Amino acid sequence: MNSLSSCDEEKPGRFDGSFLTENSNRNETADGVCFEYPNHTKIDFLLTYQCNASCAHCITSSNPYRKEWLEKEEVISFLEIARNYGKHYVSFTGGEPLLHLPFALDLIREAKARGYAVFSDTNAYWGGSEKKALSIAQELKDAGLDGLFPSADAYHLPFISLTKVRNVIDACDAVGLTCEINYCPGPDHTLNAQIVKELDLEARGFFSDGLSLNGNDVEDLKSYFPKRIPAELHDIGSMHLGVSPRGDCFANVDISYDNKEFEGTPFSLGSIRREGIEEVLTREAGDPLIRLMQETSPAIVDAHLSADPEHQEWYNSLIATREYYSSTEYWLELFHSDRKEGLKRTLRDLQVKNDTPRGMSA
Ligand code: SF4
Repeated sequence: MNSLSSCDEEKPGRFDGSFLTENSNRNETADGVCFEYPNHTKIDFLLTYQCNASCAHCITSSNPYRKEWLEKEEVISFLEIARNYGKHYVSFTGGEPLLHLPFALDLIREAKARGYAVFSDTNAYWGGSEKKALSIAQELKDAGLDGLFPSADAYHLPFISLTKVRNVIDACDAVGLTCEINYCPGPDHTLNAQIVKELDLEARGFFSDGLSLNGNDVEDLKSYFPKRIPAELHDIGSMHLGVSPRGDCFANVDISYDNKEFEGTPFSLGSIRREGIEEVLTREAGDPLIRLMQETSPAIVDAHLSADPEHQEWYNSLIATREYYSSTEYWLELFHSDRKEGLKRTLRDLQVKNDTPRGMSA
């Protein structure tokens, strides 16, 4: 997982001077495979915080020394129970979710056997030769994987060569596995252009996203990622269920290493190891505010709050003209404000008025 707030992926991009401002936030024109699934049907499992790389921009601060992993039985139980809550898309991420390949292959098979569409991120470390990449891509496909999202950018390069990524892309194409590239621009435009050229991203497309400020070193990225006022934030790609390698669950997949920013907010759903899987899923399904975040962009919420008699004076003077890197940052600002209880009440009422709660097995 890199520093980009996540679907895990975003709108297809193209590489020219304006791509950051045009493509750094999700909008309705996105056509990556993960956008074919409504947010309330999706689960992202961060299988581990461990990774064989340690990229400077990593949202989860992953590295080879991290020890946290979800247990296989935890993931399988979650997949089983979550079908009763309408889940049918699963994505494995991390850390590097394919670090222990047999473990990942077992989970892909278990998810597929339960009717999920199954996807995985990877940093493409396993693409050392064309032959090896082809063999592993075939194993992934045979296990039931529907699509792979390799990451490639300047931050990964000290650890993962472009040749490996190229081999993985070619192997996916050869075995008929959907392959969508997660790309994060770096500060060196010459290097960016080289990566785009070598991976043929102009023709192939890539996915990028708004900048996530959670947990990682983003000072470099802050200077050239765009910020937007709430009326221009259309991204809801991150607003689906994420499970951390410690078993903590969030109604947002921008999961970091400590997740302190989510504490005490509606994003925090509890732990499968403390509260249990049913409790977490019931909390997610039962909160109208989570439904609102999954279905409604900050731009629409902004229009409502800026005209709401209870909040408009405060909102218009403090929030409406501020700029945010992502929808997650906007929501966290509301949830940590001294108006949070009133805001949550107002927005829950809004959702209940405008929507029919989903059935538990919608
Ligand atoms: S490869 Fe991905 S998970 Fe690993 S350190 Fe880099 S950004 Fe983080």
